[in-house]
Parts: sequence; structure tokens; C-alpha cells
Amino acid sequence: MRIEAIPEKLIVAFVVVLISYLQLTTNFYVLGPAFGGWTTIFAQKLLAPMNILLVSLYVNYYLACITEPGSTPEGWEPPYSILNPDESVPIRVGILGPRFCKKCDSYKPPRSHHCRHCGKCVLRMDHHCPWLGNCIGFGNYSYFIRFVFSVMGCCSYGAYLLLWRLQRILDMRKSPWHMHQVSTTELGVIGFNLCLIAIVLLLVGVLAVYHTYCLLKGQTTIEGWERTKTTRLVNRRKIDPVEFPFDIGFYHNICSVLGRNPLLWWFPRSSPGDGLKYDVKPDTDPLVPYSWPPRDPKDLGPSIIERIEQEQHWEGKKLVRRDSEGYLVKEITMEDRIRMLNVESIETEQYDELNPDEYYYDSNSAESDVTDDEGDHDVDKTFVLEESEWVDEE
Ligand SMILES: [Zn+2]
Ligand SMILES: [Zn+2]
Repeated sequence: MRIEAIPEKLIVAFVVVLISYLQLTTNFYVLGPAFGGWTTIFAQKLLAPMNILLVSLYVNYYLACITEPGSTPEGWEPPYSILNPDESVPIRVGILGPRFCKKCDSYKPPRSHHCRHCGKCVLRMDHHCPWLGNCIGFGNYSYFIRFVFSVMGCCSYGAYLLLWRLQRILDMRKSPWHMHQVSTTELGVIGFNLCLIAIVLLLVGVLAVYHTYCLLKGQTTIEGWERTKTTRLVNRRKIDPVEFPFDIGFYHNICSVLGRNPLLWWFPRSSPGDGLKYDVKPDTDPLVPYSWPPRDPKDLGPSIIERIEQEQHWEGKKLVRRDSEGYLVKEITMEDRIRMLNVESIETEQYDELNPDEYYYDSNSAESDVTDDEGDHDVDKTFVLEESEWVDEE
């Protein structure tokens, strides 16, 4: 059974019950009594780090669940200079015009992606998270990161105390004078809780490591995939080399998510900025942030199954080509179109031979789960043209 099939509210309720069960039994049933009573200063001191992290965990989980990740403001457009680039500046292969979302019928701000679960373009989209019942994007990524690190800290310290208590019990069991003090139920709860914590640490640990890497590299999960794809395209010489524009150095990358004051990095608040504009590397071509990720121009070719009668219908009209991500490709004439069809049919055969694995769209891939548009992008590789990809120029 896929996790998508379970209602998100049910998953969130499960997470809350799991956290509550772990904290209540660990605090009040196992460790409190073991430290001479939950209210004693000694117990409070030893349990304080775990409980402070627990508060951080609850607060950030709540905020990550209820905070809007951010969507494209109505009527948003890239700046005039991006929409009307200087034609004397040479165009690099792979760097196309500003992105456009066909589903939302609007331009896409830099780093945004269309989420099929939310049915809208999400600013600085990272991924759609069923465990939070929300999309993780510009508005709530900082809460998500703090939640993940709070889980790691809280569970690690809780596991350390539980293991300490387990060791004590095992030592006591060896002593005949203390046999009556050892509760089998407590032993069972410690064992069960340690197993649960180990599973949580393993799953969230993978997330924590990956998101630490993303945080330091100034990228989202989707941009991680895009960077891999871009490197592959550059290595195969399909596009001109282009650097990921949003990686502005470890320290500034962290500041762009957790805020500019390191003393307040752990304090629950959203990321600075408006989610529509981002700092970029010095000397970055201004077009790159609006057109990232680069695309293989071959993907933008028209269908080989297009019908001649449609060509008749288009004759005399000025056409503008948009690809699945909405890139404005260029105005073409019917002659261009026929030439592209001829070239495409030859190139398609070569493409098929070179990259048989890439030729088909895998509907089960993680990438396709997250955003529709990445899926559409791959569907494009089958060279089936949707009529909606063509828009009459006004
Ligand atoms: Zn959209
Ligand atoms: Zn979503």
C-alpha cells in the first residue's frame, strides 16, 4: 500500500500519537521514577535537554504543518528585462526564457514548482510531505529543518537515557537482593521504545543528513535532482556549461533559510525574503535564476506524429512554442516547423539508441510523485505533442 493512499490527516495523527506515546512513557513511566520522581531537581536536570528539544519538536512540527509554503502571487511576472532580453547577448544552449506553468496559467517564480497534490505552484518547493500533510516550500522549510533536527536530538538523548536505565536494570537483575525491584513491564516498555526510536532515528537520520547537505549547498530536494540532470547534460555536451545560481556559500546558504542572526537560527520563524527573489552567485546571468533548470533543447522538439492537416490549419499564423515547463521557446514559421520535424525524426532515432533508459517516463519514480511538471517534462521525451503546448501569439 502506497503512503499516498492514506489520508494525510491520518498520517499526521499517527505522528502526533507516536511522539506523545514515546515522550509520555519515557518521561513519566521509565525515567521519572528511575531518577527518584519526575518532579525532583535531579530528574528535571537530566530530563531537561530531552524536554526542551521535545517542545522545539512539537512547535516546529505544528508550524511546518499549518504554515503555507507560498504560492505564485496573482499576476506575478518576471522583470521586463527578463521577458524582453537583449537580443545582442548570445543565448547559451539550454538556458531558455522564463518558466511558465500551464496548469496555473502563470509565470513561475524562480525555484517554484507545480505540486500535483496541492494543485498550485509552490515557492522554492522542496517536496510534498505526507508526514506533515503539507508541501515543504519557502514558507515552512525552516520549520521543517528545525523539526528534523529536533527529532534527531530528542530521540538520540532519549535513547541514551533509556540505554542507561536498561543497563542499570540488567545490573540489578544480576544481584539477588534487587530482584523484586525489577519490573518486567518496564523492561518491555524500554525495549519497545528503543526499537521505535531506532526506526525513527534511521528514517529521520537519512532525511537529516540529506537536508544538512541541501542546506549547506543552498539547494532544495528537487534542485538536487535538477543539478544531477544538468551535470549529465553538460557532460554529454547537450547544453552549455552552467552553474547552479543559488549556491552562495555555506554560511549564506544557511542564513537564507534560518535567518541572518545565528543566535536565532533555532528560534521558530520563517525564512527571510518574499520567496520570489533569491540571492545568486556573483556574475550570474540574470536570466539563469528565472530559467533554471537548463533544458536539453532536444526535449523541446515537436512531435513526430503531428498531422499535416494541423500544419494546414496553422499556416499563416504566428506561433509561439512553449514546452511542458512553459518555456517560451521561439516564434517559428511553417518552414521552420517542417525542418524541425525532419531533423527531429533523425535525432529521435539517435536519442533512442543512446539513452534507452531515459526514453520512457517512469510513473513510479520519486521525482514524478512530487511534481507534475517534472513528469510532463519526461512525457515530452516520447515526443507526443500536446496541442496546448502551442499558443497563438497575440
Ligand atoms: Zn502551477
Ligand atoms: Zn504539495
